Amino acid sequence: MKVVIIGASFAGIAAALEVRKKHPQATIILLEKQTTLGYIPNGLHLYWDNKIKDLNEARFVTTAQLDNEQIHYHLGVTVKKLNTKQKLVHYQAAENEDIMSYDKLIIAAGSRQLSEKITGSHHESVLKYKRYHEAQAALEKVADSQHITIIGGGQVGIEAADLLRRQEKQVTLIESMDYVLFKYLDQELILPLEEAMLKAGVTLKLRQTVSSIETESEQSVTVHLGNESVITDAVILGVNVRPHLTFLDEQIKLHMDQTIKVDQYLRTSAEDVFAVGDCIQLMFEPGEEREYVPLINNAVRTGIVAAANLLKPSIAFKGSLRTIGTHVFGHYIASTGMTEAESLFTNRAVKTVLQKIKVNSLPNAETVTIKWVYEAESKLLLGAQMISKANILEKINTLALAIQTKQTLEELKQKDYFFQPAYSQMLSTTNPVSWMGERVEEDEN
Ligand SMILES: Cc1cc2nc3c(=O)[nH]c(=O)nc-3n(C[C@H](O)[C@H](O)[C@H](O)COP(=O)(O)OP(=O)(O)OC[C@H]3O[C@@H](n4cnc5c(N)ncnc54)[C@H](O)[C@@H]3O)c2cc1C
Repeated sequence: MKVVIIGASFAGIAAALEVRKKHPQATIILLEKQTTLGYIPNGLHLYWDNKIKDLNEARFVTTAQLDNEQIHYHLGVTVKKLNTKQKLVHYQAAENEDIMSYDKLIIAAGSRQLSEKITGSHHESVLKYKRYHEAQAALEKVADSQHITIIGGGQVGIEAADLLRRQEKQVTLIESMDYVLFKYLDQELILPLEEAMLKAGVTLKLRQTVSSIETESEQSVTVHLGNESVITDAVILGVNVRPHLTFLDEQIKLHMDQTIKVDQYLRTSAEDVFAVGDCIQLMFEPGEEREYVPLINNAVRTGIVAAANLLKPSIAFKGSLRTIGTHVFGHYIASTGMTEAESLFTNRAVKTVLQKIKVNSLPNAETVTIKWVYEAESKLLLGAQMISKANILEKINTLALAIQTKQTLEELKQKDYFFQPAYSQMLSTTNPVSWMGERVEEDEN
């Protein structure tokens, strides 16, 4: 069996490694546009945070690992056209065009940072840094700039704002919603973060939508928002990524947002063609409405599931809880599943509880504020959000598993856990017992 995979980032690499495990005899070929392999998209943040000394250290896979698994890869190769009836991939390598046949095709061509709604966002002085060469260029431009304007208060934008303030850059952050990180957290959890951002000197422009960006010279960029303009040295585009799939044929059906339609086994409408990662929409759980959730964990997990379904549909994709975790402006922030704000757009009756709990049994223990979102009648856990000055990030993975395995709050109260006074309290943070800590708020909608 010859398996061709378009795109050698998280989804493509995960798919290739899993195909190798499942099909030791298969010929596996990755076709990748970039000339280097496995760059981690927020490598620039690792560099600014002094966690790596060189951008090139931000890699999640090496060519040696692929060689070991006898996975072939062609770097610097761009797929131009598909013919899914004849099972052919047309691609360009340097000056040459070539054609490759396949038995099974996995499209893992991901997404790019570009906003169709913001005129001028394609300009190279509007910094994007998902790819290695883009990160190199952004690194230089930011080093030469004093005032940086960030468009978008998602994870990328907030992390960039924090890291740039630490370099004493002047930072303006523009967000069209009422508060930052709105996709992942309810507003009351974000208030301490926004306070910390203002205290750190970030100019925060909320409820403002950027319409266009004008680049007059190498040195200066003007960002237009409503009746106002911001003149700045550099702009970072932190808005949502989008797929860019110009090579598909008409057999492959798309959603309105240009993502590829797939079934629960990640099969596209073309025979023997699968799509994974940032190319597709995902549902919260099987049967729910789909949405676009471009995250690395989704890319990796969909890659693994597609590989398992190559010969016959055997494993359905379980869905995405949009789990995130980060450390910004001195706060660890994590979220999984449904927020209360989001629940208003579903037909579920939801209740929430906000608790403030000490993270260990020591006298000066930090607290974590945790918000539980659950189904009113069944008490099924639907979502959880946390903010703390202590590193609570790993705890969100426990709660993601609790949601995936359909635990109720009653069941979670009995979740087994360790006790060690320096690291825990008499109850684990993720056991939602009402008398633990301070119950800040209880709500029903
Ligand atoms: C700055 C930034 C930081 C981020 N940080 C995080 C984070 O910390 N955590 C997180 O969960 N998510 C993060 N994300 C989102 C994350 O990058 C994506 O969800 C993830 O990279 C998706 O993986 P993928 O393999 O589906 O696609 P991509 O990573 O987009 O990879 C697709 C690959 O396909 C190749 N390709 C595309 N078209 C062709 C073609 N025609 N021919 C050949 N090759 C092609 C591309 O060159 C690319 O290598 C971040 C995004 C950005 C922009």
